[in-house]
Amino acid sequence: MRAETLAPLLEMEKVSMFYHTPQGETAALSDISFQLEKGAFLAIVGPSGCGKSTILSLIAGLLRPSAGEIRIAGEPVGEGISPLVGYMLQHDHLFPWCTVWDNVLLGLKIRGEVKPEQKERVAALLEQYGLADFRNSLPRHLSGGMRQRAALIRTLALEPELLLLDEPFSALDYQTRLRVSDDIGTIIRSQGKTAVLVTHDISEAISMADRVLVLSARPGRIRYQERICLSSSSARVLEKRQAPEFAACFDRIWKELNGDV
Ligand code: ADP
Repeated sequence: MRAETLAPLLEMEKVSMFYHTPQGETAALSDISFQLEKGAFLAIVGPSGCGKSTILSLIAGLLRPSAGEIRIAGEPVGEGISPLVGYMLQHDHLFPWCTVWDNVLLGLKIRGEVKPEQKERVAALLEQYGLADFRNSLPRHLSGGMRQRAALIRTLALEPELLLLDEPFSALDYQTRLRVSDDIGTIIRSQGKTAVLVTHDISEAISMADRVLVLSARPGRIRYQERICLSSSSARVLEKRQAPEFAACFDRIWKELNGDV
C-alpha cells in the first residue's frame, strides 16, 4: 500500500491581523505561522492583549485574517464556524434553566434533529465522565468542575476534530482549576482530539500541552516555542507537574514571557 502524507490538521501561514475602529487601526497579530498535527495539543501563552484570543477567533472562522491563510484539514477556513471546530470558553455558558441533558444536547439540536445514536453517544460521555447521575439536574446544582465537564461534553457532542480552549479554567478557584484541568486534559486525550489552549498560566500550559508557543507583546509574534518532553510516565496533568524537567521548562518559558516586560 502506498504511504500517504497527511496534511496537518491545522495550518496557519503568515497570518497577520489588524482591527479597524473609528479610533484607528490596531495591529493585533503579525506573521504567525505554525502547524498542528492531528492529536497534538498546543498551548499559547503571552502577555495580555497580545492577540491570543484573536488567533482562536481566526481559526474558528469568526474573524478573517488581514493577511495570510488558515487551513483546517487542508481546506481554507471560510466565513463562519467550521463544523470541524469546537470552542470552549472561560465561562461554561450552560443555560441555567435547562437540565444538564438538555444543555449537552443543545448544539446538536441547533444543527437539526438529534439522531438516536447521537443521543446514545452523549449519554455514554456523561456516564464515562461521571455526570450520568446529574443528567436531570440544573447547572446550579453542579460544582464548577462538573459544569466545565458538562460544557466540554456539549462541545464533544458535535464531534469536532479541533478543540479551541480560551482560558477555560480561569473562572475557577486554584484547587478546582488543578483538578478540572487534569480532568479535561484526560478527556481530550482519551477522545484523541487536537487542541489549542490559550492560557496565561505557564504551569497549565506545560502540564496540558505537548508544545507551547510564547507570543510577544502586541502585535503578537511567535517569540519562542518549546516542545514539552516530560519524563513523567503518567498522562495525568497533576503528575506531569512533578516531573523533574518541569521547573527548568517553566523557567525558560517564564524568561521568554517576561523578556517583554
Ligand atoms: P489576548 O487574548 O492576548 O488578551 P486579544 O486577541 O483579545 O488579546 O486582543 C489583541 C488586541 O486586539 C488587543 O489590543 C485588543 O484590545 C485588540 N482587539 C481585540 N478585539 C478587538 C476588536 N473587536 N476591535 C478592536 N480591537 C480589538
